[in-house]
Amino acid sequence: MKRRHDLAKEEKSVIPAPFAYHAPRSVGAALTLLSELGDEAKLLAGGHSLLPMMKMRFAQPAHLIDLGRIPELKGIREEGGTLRIGAMTSENELIWSKLLQEKCPLLVEGARLISDPQVRYKGTIGGDISHGDPANDHPAIMLALGASFVLRSAAGERVVPVDGFFRGTYDTQLKPDEIMTEIRIPVPSPGTGYCYAKLKRKVGDFATAAAAVTLRMKGQTVAEVAIALTNVGPTPLKARAAEDSLRGKALTDAAMAAAADLAMGICDPSPDQRGDAAYKTAMAGEMTQRALRLARTRAGR
Ligand SMILES: Cc1cc2nc3c(=O)[nH]c(=O)nc-3n(C[C@H](O)[C@H](O)[C@H](O)COP(=O)(O)OP(=O)(O)OC[C@H]3O[C@@H](n4cnc5c(N)ncnc54)[C@H](O)[C@@H]3O)c2cc1C
Repeated sequence: MKRRHDLAKEEKSVIPAPFAYHAPRSVGAALTLLSELGDEAKLLAGGHSLLPMMKMRFAQPAHLIDLGRIPELKGIREEGGTLRIGAMTSENELIWSKLLQEKCPLLVEGARLISDPQVRYKGTIGGDISHGDPANDHPAIMLALGASFVLRSAAGERVVPVDGFFRGTYDTQLKPDEIMTEIRIPVPSPGTGYCYAKLKRKVGDFATAAAAVTLRMKGQTVAEVAIALTNVGPTPLKARAAEDSLRGKALTDAAMAAAADLAMGICDPSPDQRGDAAYKTAMAGEMTQRALRLARTRAGR
């Protein structure tokens, strides 16, 4: 039979340290709590990244501020050519949004590839981005879509473009007293091809490597292209040299292979159970080519 202190030791790895729970009903009330509680507090969204970290005791906040009861943080709408998505909108809500299916199918495709239904019912787009995990899927998709983020503190609001938002692993431009309230995405112009190509070992896993692509063609040549990579560096990566190599050119197999080589050149993945650095880098190249090919088909070329 297990002794009491052995059980206590085991429990420590699955039960978070004690914390106080707060459930404000408005962004204003959440911001007040955040400024009062300071470093002691953590925001809780879907909890699918934060709670595992608390259970492993990598995070031990004394206070959790649950954003789940703030209606103004939810919803998807279009305003003046921009999609505005509340940070607490769940993956499932993204997937079933008629507006996104019509205007931004890349986001729907990406959300469908995140983990499993349990995670997608609770996990939120704002949490996925704010967490700053390069293995998460939304960050690269945001780069490919040219998104920006509304960050609000008691002092006011700022809108930060995705370029430069991710500073390192689990490190973003979010300040401790800020809440991400909204994600803004310019509506892709009609006829924009898109694809999120994700390689994962099994259903529910994070990407071994993935590529997000948006593509506009003018006749047979590339008018505009964006390529961003998931889980092959400390942050999501924008493959700028690969994009430059394609603009104004025909999207031939050789051009796509050359772009994939350039994308591989910026990869710096950490080896883990999903593979070593060389394998992950090769898979990033493979995903880039797959995404470009499908984006070309979807752009009607
Ligand atoms: C088994 C499993 C598999 C998964 N697979 C994938 C996958 O394949 N792809 C993928 O992308 N993700 C995956 N995830 C992660 C999942 O998508 C999480 O839901 C997501 O990373 C965090 O979103 P959340 O709403 O759960 O945020 P939480 O876990 O509640 O919060 C995460 C962090 O962001 C902060 N935060 C949350 N919301 C805000 C906000 N509005 N403003 C400021 N800070 C905020 C929190 O304080 C916390 O530090 C997986 C998770 C699990 C458990």
